[in-house]
Amino acid sequence: MASNGHSRASVRTERQVPPTKASGGGNPPARPRASSAKRSSRVSVDDDNDSVRVRVAVRVRPKNTEELNSDFADCVELQPELKRLKLKKNNWSLESYKFDEVFTQSASQRRVYEAVAKPVVESVLDGYNGTVMAYGQTGTGKTYTVGQLGKNDPSERGIMVRALEGIFANTTAGSDTVTISYLQLYLESVQDLLSPEKTNIPIVEDPKTGEVSLPGSAVVQLNDLDHFLELLQAGEANRHAANTKLNTESSRSHAMLVVHVHRSFGGKKENEVSSLSDGTNDNLASHHVPHILKSKLLIVDLAGSERIDKSGIEGRMIEETKFINLSLTSLGKCINALAENNPYIPTRDSKLTRLLRDSFGGSARTSLIVTVGPSAQYYSETASTILFGQRAMKVVNTVKLKEEVDYESLCKKLEYHVDYLTSETDRQQKLREIEREQMEKKLKEQEALIVETKIFVSKYEYLEKQKNHWELEAKKLLKELNIQKNENDRLSQEIGHLEENFKQIKQQELESSTHQKILADMTNTYQKNIAELINQLESERSHCTNLEEQLSVMKKSLSDNIKSVQERIVDDLARENSKLNEIATSKIQSLEVMNRELLMEKDFLNKELESLKDKLLDEERQRRCLEGEIVKLKKFLIDGNAENGSKRSHWAENSTSSTLPFENPSKSHKSRESVSAQKDTISKIFEEVGLSNILPLLKSEELDVQIHAVKVVANLAAEDINQERIVKEGGLDALLILLEISKDATVHRITAGALANLAMNGSNQSLIVSKGGTRLLANIASKTEDPQTLRMIAGAIANLCGNEKLHVMLKKDSGIKALLQMMKSGHSEVIAQVARGFANFAKCESRGIAQGYQKGKSVLIEEGALYWMITNSSTYSASTRRHIELALCHLAQNEDNALDLIRGGGIKELIRISQDSSKEETRNLAKKALDSNSSFSSEMYTS
Ligand code: ADP
Ligand code: MG
Repeated sequence: MASNGHSRASVRTERQVPPTKASGGGNPPARPRASSAKRSSRVSVDDDNDSVRVRVAVRVRPKNTEELNSDFADCVELQPELKRLKLKKNNWSLESYKFDEVFTQSASQRRVYEAVAKPVVESVLDGYNGTVMAYGQTGTGKTYTVGQLGKNDPSERGIMVRALEGIFANTTAGSDTVTISYLQLYLESVQDLLSPEKTNIPIVEDPKTGEVSLPGSAVVQLNDLDHFLELLQAGEANRHAANTKLNTESSRSHAMLVVHVHRSFGGKKENEVSSLSDGTNDNLASHHVPHILKSKLLIVDLAGSERIDKSGIEGRMIEETKFINLSLTSLGKCINALAENNPYIPTRDSKLTRLLRDSFGGSARTSLIVTVGPSAQYYSETASTILFGQRAMKVVNTVKLKEEVDYESLCKKLEYHVDYLTSETDRQQKLREIEREQMEKKLKEQEALIVETKIFVSKYEYLEKQKNHWELEAKKLLKELNIQKNENDRLSQEIGHLEENFKQIKQQELESSTHQKILADMTNTYQKNIAELINQLESERSHCTNLEEQLSVMKKSLSDNIKSVQERIVDDLARENSKLNEIATSKIQSLEVMNRELLMEKDFLNKELESLKDKLLDEERQRRCLEGEIVKLKKFLIDGNAENGSKRSHWAENSTSSTLPFENPSKSHKSRESVSAQKDTISKIFEEVGLSNILPLLKSEELDVQIHAVKVVANLAAEDINQERIVKEGGLDALLILLEISKDATVHRITAGALANLAMNGSNQSLIVSKGGTRLLANIASKTEDPQTLRMIAGAIANLCGNEKLHVMLKKDSGIKALLQMMKSGHSEVIAQVARGFANFAKCESRGIAQGYQKGKSVLIEEGALYWMITNSSTYSASTRRHIELALCHLAQNEDNALDLIRGGGIKELIRISQDSSKEETRNLAKKALDSNSSFSSEMYTS
């Protein structure tokens, strides 16, 4: 505590003194000491129900100088360990008394305080009233024990100072207040020692509560201990002055220090009340009621007790005693009555007993210290004091907690709470208002949403209908498409039949060489048409598939989109569907047109077929004639003479041209029936006549015979199985001789054809070349201009060109030169054979280069064929073009030919071939040459 002195002291008039009731009366003792007090209660309870006996200690004063010098022996002997005092009346009479505490002459002030007063002070701090009182003969140390200031030596401090010290140490300046009144009672007059002008202060008892108060007495609120010391000192001075004025001694008055301790509990500070806004405020009254402990400590320094004693002994001055020290007498009586449990306690007999009503037999915790001197000189006073103490030990008080509700704080708190609740109510009201508005807004939104949903539902239903409708439409469309597809399939089947018919027609057609060319052209045209039709059909088919796919995609997207409820998409879909319908309709129409065209085409082809059949019948007739010729020839052979000249001419008339299977052996143009019929006829001749018989006819002097014979041989040579046999039996030699010696162009032509047929066989090729066949053929070629003969010769040499072993001989025997020569004839079929020969030659060369057994520039280039090939690769017929392109591409594979090719403008041609050639194999060859040949690359880069 701060020691700020007087300036902060406040003085107020006491309004209330706690009630002082006799035990057994009033309210039952308050129980919750521990809960309501700041410290746990240190009140020791001797009996049940908070009954507390008055505790009594005895203190013996040290001998003063007078006593030390006198002859009196000690009448008091102490046994502190047994808390006993022995009182010696004389040498043979000794009484022993037990006290609650026994203090020897050397007992310190501190120990006396702690044993006697401290428990009472602590009890006061816990909210109970308390009394500490000193009783004894004058000069035995009451004032020393109770009121000693100890200004110079704190260890000398008496109970008053130490009690206030204890109170200050255990109270809080803000919430607790400590106030004092200091009074003295002399001859039944209450005087204020803090405000000495106040005398005869009345004692007022509240008739209802029994509370005793001293209205008008000064009540000073203490700041700190120094403040108290000053007040106490001033009070002592006032007491001394008052006693001097009254012509009395301090030992004749009772001094009373009243310490009021007010302590606040449970009342939270206002700013803490806001924490109650958590909804627990219902319990405000029960849990948070602020309360105040209003306890009172009374420290009484009584007047000397000797007179009572003397009056009691002597019995003389009872009146005076009554008058002068009525109060002590009354006190003794009251104590006696209480000790003896008398029903009547004469409290009202004196002011002292009225003031001490709570201390003895009341609700206070009371400690009494009785002081005695050691000397036997005051034996009777000492004995009287001891007896008073012994009686007082029998008095039992019933302590009561002095607790009140702090209505002021409670009121403030409740006001604050009401404020809080009001503002909270307002806030809640506002919140509810906002919530209501929000709810209304939401309600409106929901209503709008419901309307929207209804619209949506109706739209959805409409779309659902639309979806079903379009699905039906789509199914219809699909059905129609399927029908269309079936129709297409049927058409393609018909075309297949037509193709088949065409093949047959072609085969039949080829039987007649005069119709061969026309038929070939027709076939090409039809093939093209058919290919185009097939392509169209394919594209139609793929388009149908696409349409189907589109339809399925559309169906899917239609269902998806309907789900997403987009009117727009439905519209799009409808548009798309109508568009598709249009497309499908137009497609169907175009297909129908095409179908009509095809039917027309079919009619036309049927007509063609009819005419071809007619032609075939003619052919058949011719064949029969030929067979007749053969029969005649047979006959002629059998007869062995030359009388049948007229018949031979028939052979010549009917055999217009020889067959050239070498041209395309794998693609025989004869109809199967016709070919097999011819084969049968030839094999019949073979079997019946015998080759050995036919071959000599080649040397016949009769030209007709020669011609017929060479025709038969040529026809025989067209068959693989006969080729070897013809050579074996000397046919080759015979043919070569015929070619050398005959001057007849027909013989030349047919012989060349026979050689060309024989030259299809690999082993025969070497024989033909080695026997000088090349030279003979080249010779004939140089002399004739007949395209058929040239075609045969070119075909024969072209076949020989396909054999790389013969290349050197071919060059040597002017075979290549003959080809170049024949090329000048300008006849397309001859040129086609020449081109085939170049292609065969170049192919063999390029194979030889690739396999590493051949090197150097191409013979074809050396012979001067390159320029012609480059300049003519894009002219002539398709087959000629293909052969020239192939020849060029093979030449380009050889690095040694590169320079000539570049010079001759071959690169441009190769680039064209790589892009335009009708054969993929040729295109790839051209690309390969251009890519792999470094000379070409650099040339292409620079150009
Ligand atoms: P009373 O108040 O009972 O009349 P006082 O307290 O005035 O007696 O004491 C009388 C004298 O004896 C004083 O001078 C006091 O200092 C002295 N005295 C009393 N008790 C003691 C003690 N225990 N120790 C020392 N001196 C004491
Ligand atoms: Mg005194």
